[in-house]
Amino acid sequence: MKGSDVGMLAVRGLQLAVNQFKRFNQLTNLHTKYKYFITFYLIFLPLLNLKKNMQEKIVVLGSNGQIGTELVTTLRKIYGDDNVVACDIRRPDYDIKNSAPFEFVNVLDKEMIKGIFHKYRPTQVYLLAALLSATGEQNPKLAWDLNMNGLLNVLDLALEYKTAKVYWPSSIAVFGPNSPKDHTSQYCVMDPNTVYGISKLAGERWCEYYNQKYGLDVRSIRYPGLISWKAAPGGGTTDYAIHIFHDALKKGSYQSFLNAGTELPMMYMDDAIRGTIELMDAPADQISVRSSYNFAGVSFTPEVLAAEIRKHIPDFTLTYTNNDPRQQIANSWPRSIDDGYAAKDWGWKPEFDLSKLTIDMLKNLKK
Ligand code: NAD
Repeated sequence: MKGSDVGMLAVRGLQLAVNQFKRFNQLTNLHTKYKYFITFYLIFLPLLNLKKNMQEKIVVLGSNGQIGTELVTTLRKIYGDDNVVACDIRRPDYDIKNSAPFEFVNVLDKEMIKGIFHKYRPTQVYLLAALLSATGEQNPKLAWDLNMNGLLNVLDLALEYKTAKVYWPSSIAVFGPNSPKDHTSQYCVMDPNTVYGISKLAGERWCEYYNQKYGLDVRSIRYPGLISWKAAPGGGTTDYAIHIFHDALKKGSYQSFLNAGTELPMMYMDDAIRGTIELMDAPADQISVRSSYNFAGVSFTPEVLAAEIRKHIPDFTLTYTNNDPRQQIANSWPRSIDDGYAAKDWGWKPEFDLSKLTIDMLKNLKK
C-alpha cells in the first residue's frame, strides 16, 4: 500500500471518528464519565473500520462513464488506489489510468469477467456498464443484451466467487405511462415502454431473485437523471440538464430537446455517489428493498433550470426543438419520486437543491 493510501485511510478514519462522536452527542446526554468511555470506543470502532477498508477489494465494471468516473475516484479515496479495480471496454481518459489498476473488460464476455473475479477475488462489485435510455432506443436488442446478460453474468460470478456485496443501478425508467406521476411510490403500477426501462425492471426482479433464492447481497438504487461536470453523460433522456450548463457558459444560449414544462426527477452527482456508498455501507439487515430503492434529489423543468441559470448569467436564452424522440420517453416518466424507504432504511437525505447544484456546476465548468 502506498504512503498516500495510508494517509487517505487515516483521514477517513478520523472523519469516521468525528462523525460517530457527533452522532453520539446528538443521540444522548449520558454521564460525562460514561461519555468519555464511549468516545474511546467510538474512536476504536473507526480504527477497526479502517482495517476493514484495507481488506476490501472492489471491482467497478463500466468504470469510465458519467458515474464510474466519479465513483472510482471516491472509492479509491476510501479504500486505497490499489484496492479499487476500474474495468471498461473503453480506455479511461481521466486519472484512473495513472493512479491504479485498470483492466479492459467486456461484461458480455463471461470468461473475460471470470478472469477478473479470479485475479482479484473482489469483496464488492459495482456493475455500471449499460446502454442508457436514448441510446437504447436506437439499438433495442443490444440494450437488452448488455443490460440483461451483463447483469446475469455478474450475478452468477458473484455467487461462484462468494462476492460479499454487489451493486447494480436501476433507474426511474422502470416507471411507465400508467405509473403515478407525482411522489411516485416504491411499489406502484410499473409499465415501462422503453427497452431501457424494461431491461431495468427485469434486472430489478433478477436482483431480488438472486437475493431471495441464493442469499446474494445485491443492492440497488433507481437513479433519477444525474447532473455532473466531470464526465460527459452517456445518452440519457435527462442529458439536457448537463448540456445546458456547458452551452450557457460557452454560447449564452441552449436549445433544449425537452419542452419547457417537462418536469423530471434529477440529482447532483455528489449526492448520488454519497447515497450509493451509504447504501453499500449499510448493515445487510437494514436493507428491506432487494429490487431497487426509489431515490430522490430535486425535480425541475427546463424553464425552471434556465431561470436559475439566469441568476448567474442574466442574458442566457433557452429555445426548444420540436419532435425529439426523447420527449416521448420523458412523458412516460414520473415528475417526482417518494424515496421514503431509502430514508427509513439507511438514512438517505439529499444535500443539493437546484440553487446549490447550479452554483456548483457553473463554478466547476468555469475552471
Ligand atoms: P455511461 O454510458 O456514462 O457509462 C457506461 C460505461 O459502461 C461506459 O464507460 C462504457 O464504455 C461502459 N460499457 C459499455 N458497454 C460495456 C461492456 N460491454 N463491457 C464493459 N463496459 C462497457 O453510463 P452512466 O451514466 O455512468 O450509468 C451507469 C449506470 O447507471 C447504468 O446502469 C445506467 O443505466 C445507470 N443510470 C444512470 C443514470 C444517469 O443519469 N447517468 C440514471 C439512471 C441510471
